[in-house]
Amino acid sequence: EIAGNYDVPEKDWYEWDESYKITYREYVHNQCEKDTGVYSVKSALSRSKLFEHLDPGWVSSLKAHYGAMIIPEILAVLAESRMSRFGRAAAWRNMALFGTLDETRHTQIQLLFAHGLLEKDIQFDWTHKGVHTNDWAIIAARHLCDDMFTASDAIATALQLTFTLESGFTNLQFLGMAADALEVGDIEFGALISSIQTDESRHAQQGEPTLKILLKQGKEIPQKLIDTMFWRSWRIFALLTGLSMDYYTPLEHRQQSFKEFMEEWILKQFVDLFRDLGLEL
Ligand code: FE
Ligand code: FE
Repeated sequence: EIAGNYDVPEKDWYEWDESYKITYREYVHNQCEKDTGVYSVKSALSRSKLFEHLDPGWVSSLKAHYGAMIIPEILAVLAESRMSRFGRAAAWRNMALFGTLDETRHTQIQLLFAHGLLEKDIQFDWTHKGVHTNDWAIIAARHLCDDMFTASDAIATALQLTFTLESGFTNLQFLGMAADALEVGDIEFGALISSIQTDESRHAQQGEPTLKILLKQGKEIPQKLIDTMFWRSWRIFALLTGLSMDYYTPLEHRQQSFKEFMEEWILKQFVDLFRDLGLEL
C-alpha cells in the first residue's frame, strides 16, 4: 500500500534510470562544499548593513517564503524517506535517500538563516510559527503539502512531488528567486536559495523515470495524478510567487511580471516536457 501498486510488472522496475548516479562519498563531498560556501557568505555578511538596505517589499517576500515553505521542507523529508524505503527500484531508493538528506539540509539551513534575521526584524519568527497558525494562506499551503508529502504512496509521491511540484514549479521558482535576490542586493538569500536549487534539480530527477515506467500501463492514472497536483500547486504558486513578483519586488528591479514568468517557464518548458512524454494538457 505504501509502495503503490498500479499493476506495474516487477521486471519493469529494473529499467528505472536517472542521469546523476552519484555515490555517497561524492554526495557528502559536494554537500560539504556547498554548505561551506553558503555559511561563509552568511558569516561574512553578518556584520554588514546589508539587511537594513533591503527594500521593505522584498523583506515581505522573504517572510512569506520562510513562513510558508520552511516547515514543509521537513515534511518533504517524510516524502523522500517513503521513496527511499518503498520505491520499487534500487537506483530510485538510492536517489531518494540523497533527497531525504537534501530536505533535512533545507530545513536546517533555512531555519538558521531566518533565525539570524530575528534580531533585525521580529517578524522572522513567522518562519517557525507560520505553519502552526490558521492564517488562510498557511491553511492552503499546509493542505497541499500534507496531501502531497505525507498522505501518499511512493509512486504518487514521485509523480506529484518530484515531477510536478519540483520539476514543474519549485526548481524554476528557486532559479528566479536567486536571480531576484541578487538583483535587489540580497546576496545572503541569493547564495542560500541557489545552493538549495542545486539539490532540487538533482532529486527532482526521480519523477521522470518513475513516470515513464508507469506510462507503460497507460496514461490515465499518471495524467490524473499530475493534473491534480499541477492545479493545486499552481494555486500556492500564484499566492506566494505571484504576490512576490507582482507586488513586493521593487519596480526598478522587476524583470518580468508573474504572467510572463509563468508563460516562459511553466507553460513553455514544463508543458513541453510532459507533452514529450505523451501526456496531454
Ligand atoms: Fe527542499
Ligand atoms: Fe525538494
